[in-house]
Amino acid sequence: MFEITLEESFSAAHALRGYQGKCERVHGHNYRVRVSLQAEQLDPAGLVMDFVDVRALLRDLLEPFDHRLLNDVPPFDTLNPTAENMARHFFVGLSRRISAQGPRVRVAEVRVWETEAATAAYRE
Ligand SMILES: [Zn+2]
Repeated sequence: MFEITLEESFSAAHALRGYQGKCERVHGHNYRVRVSLQAEQLDPAGLVMDFVDVRALLRDLLEPFDHRLLNDVPPFDTLNPTAENMARHFFVGLSRRISAQGPRVRVAEVRVWETEAATAAYRE
């Protein structure tokens, strides 16, 4: 099994709903998002997937949330904008985009950093 990993970042604000504590107030994070892709077989060039293409897909996925209040942007207008829910949302969105290119590559994990010391990950 081969695996590649790539990171992107974006900045956004959020406020957690149904949460007792200071995170219920609007505040910002410099989010870091790390995605890992797996494949049993490499492509003819010897790649799981071109980093350039993965980065483009990831940037496209994150762009709607950059410099926004996450609570205003679907699905986080109804889904609580926790790092856990963000990791799952990005996992599902990236999986959909990658599976459109064929069955060879799958998303193994998406991990979201809210701070250097606090991360949440989603895997299936
Ligand atoms: Zn927060």
